[in-house]
Amino acid sequence: MLPAGLHWIERWLPGFTQRAQDLGAVLSGTATSITAFDGRLQAATHDDRHVLLMASRPFLEARIRERVTALPNVRVVRARAAGLVVREDEVRGVRHADGVVEADFVVDAMGRSSRLAEWLGDAGLEKPRLERLRNPINYATALFERPTPAADLDVAAAIAVYAQGLGATGLSVASLNAIEDDQWLVLVMGYGQERPGRTLAEFRAACSELPGVFAQAASGAPTRDIATYHQGESRRRDFTGLRHFPARLVGVGDSVASFNPAYGQGMSSAALQASCLSAYLTSGPDLSVPAEGFFDLQQVVVDAAWSVSTGGDTERLEAAAGIEPPEEVRRQRQVLRQLLEAGLVDPFVARALNDISYMLRHPAAMADPALLERAAAATSATPH
Ligand SMILES: Cc1cc2nc3c(=O)[nH]c(=O)nc-3n(C[C@H](O)[C@H](O)[C@H](O)COP(=O)(O)OP(=O)(O)OC[C@H]3O[C@@H](n4cnc5c(N)ncnc54)[C@H](O)[C@@H]3O)c2cc1C
Repeated sequence: MLPAGLHWIERWLPGFTQRAQDLGAVLSGTATSITAFDGRLQAATHDDRHVLLMASRPFLEARIRERVTALPNVRVVRARAAGLVVREDEVRGVRHADGVVEADFVVDAMGRSSRLAEWLGDAGLEKPRLERLRNPINYATALFERPTPAADLDVAAAIAVYAQGLGATGLSVASLNAIEDDQWLVLVMGYGQERPGRTLAEFRAACSELPGVFAQAASGAPTRDIATYHQGESRRRDFTGLRHFPARLVGVGDSVASFNPAYGQGMSSAALQASCLSAYLTSGPDLSVPAEGFFDLQQVVVDAAWSVSTGGDTERLEAAAGIEPPEEVRRQRQVLRQLLEAGLVDPFVARALNDISYMLRHPAAMADPALLERAAAATSATPH
């Protein structure tokens, strides 16, 4: 989990990080995390805010669920939601196979497969606009035994990113995280026809061409079969400016926007959207009208995450299809490449880039003149 998400989870569930660590999750700061672009390490930085909480998804979900369900005003209804109860353009409940849950306010958190748009259409209401970016990705994830205790690790987290065609054995992104039960979680990812590491031998071969810590981690005994995952597109739904949308209804998380998982933004984006919902609800809004105040806040978060994750993906797709981008986009990409290059030697630039990829700062911060000057100075001093 990226720092932005962890910040909000810790704020709502104080002591969450410590409890997760007590149960085996690993917190990695700048001293034990490495980032590499095309095989070259990013400059070492120091920032107390740049911490990653690392654990498997079932582990994290279970820890959050136990805290939330312990709240006195939380009641769990186990059922598959099947539709909305809409009365006079207000959502007043959710239908399921065995009945109805009446509600003053409904939040769709049904993830990427949410059918909210269809339900709205069925009720004769306006559907949010759907934006899709086709970017087929192939993931392989393996878990290995990790003999070293978390406290003694030199490296607990690593990410290696490669430009098209430069990655080992057809991979574009690889990451490694020390997680609970003394395990390494290692993933390799490729775009389009790149299908890295389905078998253990292929997986280890890919790791052997990455920074040394990958091969070291992958040499341990596997604790589970390699899992593969394919995703065809990033998508998001735009709820702003709808003319015939009901009151007392919002969506959050993957149901609204689901990105390429390689950027690790999903949970943090969901947590930031939840913080927007908290700000909206505590502002004492008029619930009898559509929650436009919330949708406007949410769009800032979703736009930021979308621009980070789809920016790089679009560039790869266009390069593969031989498409020339417009001049403005070409210049933006040139600036980003210069920032990444400068981040290899200049800790100030590296920290600013990590602020953005960890969702602590808006990507618009990349246009900060002080940062650009620094990057220009760092790259002009770097021999090519
Ligand atoms: C391979 C992979 C790796 C990832 N890695 C990371 C990472 O490192 N860091 C990160 O931050 N994010 C990561 N993500 C993204 C992250 O998993 C999602 O962004 C996050 O889970 C979204 O949370 P959510 O609650 O919105 O949706 P979900 O986690 O999808 O939860 C939706 C829930 O709603 C339930 N549901 C659906 N329909 C109904 C219904 N009709 N009735 C009742 N319940 C229903 C589903 O069963 C599910 O439990 C990754 C995703 C993938 C696929």
